[in-house]
Amino acid sequence: MPRGLLITGGPLWAGPGQFWPDGAVAAVDGVITYAGTADGAPRPPQAEEIQAGGGLIMPGLVNAHCHGAMVLFRGLADDLPLRVWLEEHIFPAEARWVNEEMVELCCRLAAAEMLLSGTTTVGDSYFCQDGAAKAYPQAGMRAVLLQGLIDFPAPGVPDPAHNLAACRRFVQRWKGVNPLLTTGIFAHSTYTCAKDTLRGAAELATELGCQWHTHLAESAEEVESSMKANGVSPVAYLENLGLLERLDTAVHCVWLQPGEMEMLARRGVAVAACPGSNSKLGSGWADIPDLLDAGCAVGLGTDGAASNNNLDLFGEIGLAARLAKVKTKDPAALPAEAALDLALSGSAACLGLTGVVGRLASGYACDAVVVDFSAPRLTPCFDAASHLVYAATGGNVRHVVVDGRQVVGDGTLLTMDVEEVMAKVRELAAKVGGPL
Ligand SMILES: [Zn+2]
Repeated sequence: MPRGLLITGGPLWAGPGQFWPDGAVAAVDGVITYAGTADGAPRPPQAEEIQAGGGLIMPGLVNAHCHGAMVLFRGLADDLPLRVWLEEHIFPAEARWVNEEMVELCCRLAAAEMLLSGTTTVGDSYFCQDGAAKAYPQAGMRAVLLQGLIDFPAPGVPDPAHNLAACRRFVQRWKGVNPLLTTGIFAHSTYTCAKDTLRGAAELATELGCQWHTHLAESAEEVESSMKANGVSPVAYLENLGLLERLDTAVHCVWLQPGEMEMLARRGVAVAACPGSNSKLGSGWADIPDLLDAGCAVGLGTDGAASNNNLDLFGEIGLAARLAKVKTKDPAALPAEAALDLALSGSAACLGLTGVVGRLASGYACDAVVVDFSAPRLTPCFDAASHLVYAATGGNVRHVVVDGRQVVGDGTLLTMDVEEVMAKVRELAAKVGGPL
């Protein structure tokens, strides 16, 4: 029996320029068969129906870059520069506390936070990703999971000599296991991975036909140290090694040198910008309008909850739009629909999911969100996209559908006992460092 779904009873914003005041989305077996005006919308046989109740129907948001398990370290160390935060606080805490069980538990919490705030797909890069591969599908969330690669002892891989083998095993183990999962490789950065490790990542990604991402040009300090160690910037370093053309997604790209945006575009590298994390760490922010002008695909990521400190993509979208205007002194820079599309088709491009997620249109996966437009902060409404960018938060999300299945109903997560997950995370956090 085919699995039918009909979402109706509210306005539909299906993508830039695609708005219907009274819309409907129909899907069969998780794939959209119709998106448009409610008038005359086909009703799939035996369709389950979700009534939007006047709420806005929109595509599920796509988080291009996250470290889900880092929710455990949310607020553990704040107001510090990147190097101090990472080397003196995060790396030691990870060495002590990260294991597969922790990753599974904390990714369940991350999935809960993201689904409840309207994110239906995440690109999650971390260690011990077998835990993530169990957590996200159980939560009903779509995920691109990248196994971390770094040149010092890492959680789950005490000997860096085995890092690439661990990536290979992870990608092969989970390939095709669940339709919600895709796997890949995450080389931490050019300053924590040697030349041979980066080459190995590129070769393995090519051999396995999977995604390869890395943090790139995040801070001024990273660029300075690359200049000292390698004589060139991190982007030029990868280009000189012949690896840039194989890289799928560069995360951050805050400190690009002249000509490097064009170089990334030429090499087909997508950029995952993380304005919340970058601004909180005082690193700066990626110049999104110029990256788009240069021809780069640009998505949005929250980064981990230890540097953000939440996983609400609505916040990132609003911040990206505002920072573009701050940078250019032009209020027309990155208008609402363009900002929104960063966390839709832009992030989909970062994750190799173009044509699969990021739109409500025939042939796309039925990953949809209903936002409660009757909330005081969203009243009145003249323009749906404007509200989604400048006024809404993840707290306004009411229903969420992933792969044609409802996972959030009336603001309640239907796929797990969130209270139980939070209690377990609090228990673990009490051991980490005595939070309240
Ligand atoms: Zn990151």
